[in-house]
Amino acid sequence: MKPKTLLSLFVLTFVTTKPELSLAVVKFADERIEEEIQHIYDRYPLIKQQFNKLSSSKLTYVIRYGYVKKRYSAIFETDGHNLFLTFRQTKGYYSLQVCFAHEATHALQFERGEIGYCQNKDGDWIVVNIDLWYEAEAFKTSLEVAGTTDLGMKDLGIFKRKYETEGFKKPHYG
Ligand SMILES: [Zn+2]
Repeated sequence: MKPKTLLSLFVLTFVTTKPELSLAVVKFADERIEEEIQHIYDRYPLIKQQFNKLSSSKLTYVIRYGYVKKRYSAIFETDGHNLFLTFRQTKGYYSLQVCFAHEATHALQFERGEIGYCQNKDGDWIVVNIDLWYEAEAFKTSLEVAGTTDLGMKDLGIFKRKYETEGFKKPHYG
């Protein structure tokens, strides 16, 4: 069996829900990620707020650990049916709360119709209309839950310094 087939079976088999999170549509790929999300949900009001917005959506979000491209910590992606917040399992990257805040910001941009997906000729779903402003909004949001280790990471550290000196304003497009 190919790894890809395995992964989708895994998601289908181990989807669970927890009533206290009022999970109408947010699903977890397994208990481990569910517990870890529960932990940051209880601890950070921002995460709670973002999570609740996603769970009140008509769309289905699946939260999972999985394959993430080199140098990335997490990704907001789709297979054309479900939307996934996929997190890297390897230690040494950003904390889960920073990754969640970042990817949930993209998910909420998607909810607002600001970013989208289209399928390429190979059948892969590619994010469209994501420009620097949307990336900056995701970094800015994740700063709110960032700890010392997160701020020691190059990208977020640079963003924080730039944000503090230059500010942050959405550009106006024609
Ligand atoms: Zn991003």
